[in-house]
Amino acid sequence: MTILYPVKGNLYVNLTNRCPCNCTFCIRNEAPGVYGSDSLWLEREPTVDEVKSEFEKFPPESYNEVVFCGYGEPFERFDDMVSIAIFAKQKYNKQVRVNTNGLGNLICEKPCESALEGAIDTVSISLNAPDRDEYNSITRPKWKNAYDEMLQFAVNVKPYVKKVMFTIVDLLSEEDTQKCVELAERLGIELRIRKFE
Ligand code: SF4
Repeated sequence: MTILYPVKGNLYVNLTNRCPCNCTFCIRNEAPGVYGSDSLWLEREPTVDEVKSEFEKFPPESYNEVVFCGYGEPFERFDDMVSIAIFAKQKYNKQVRVNTNGLGNLICEKPCESALEGAIDTVSISLNAPDRDEYNSITRPKWKNAYDEMLQFAVNVKPYVKKVMFTIVDLLSEEDTQKCVELAERLGIELRIRKFE
């Protein structure tokens, strides 16, 4: 099963297939794998030790960043993610990013922002939409208050990591894209518009 896989000069970590959302554009509905991996569907979740050993197959010095992403939401394995992130930093001196839906506090059922300090350098959050209704129709999260919680998480996590950014895909209308730009500016968070692949 694919635990680590290279993507554009970075090394991605596929920890879980669990996710509390069901995004209309989720790549998981389109293909079993991306970026040359046959499948990112896991037979089972790899243990922390298995993930650590896997790094030996991918010389980390060849990669810019270690990125928690994969076919699931990394915060579903919050403690394991933090432990592997610290390992990647201490053993390989890597910058570490997590690509997340920003619902970590709902998933962990407690505030988890401060535990990212010293483990994660960049938090990239899928903003997806400029307002709650649009977000709920696109992201289809498990919780009704997900949008507000995601925004609050983005603001709260700032003191604990080097960089926080929002992402949207270029499928949004021009009007919604502009509203996302304004929202990100209001919250003081960089917005990246990524190409839908
Ligand atoms: S949050 Fe990510 S993994 Fe989860 S459904 Fe949405 S796109 Fe897919």
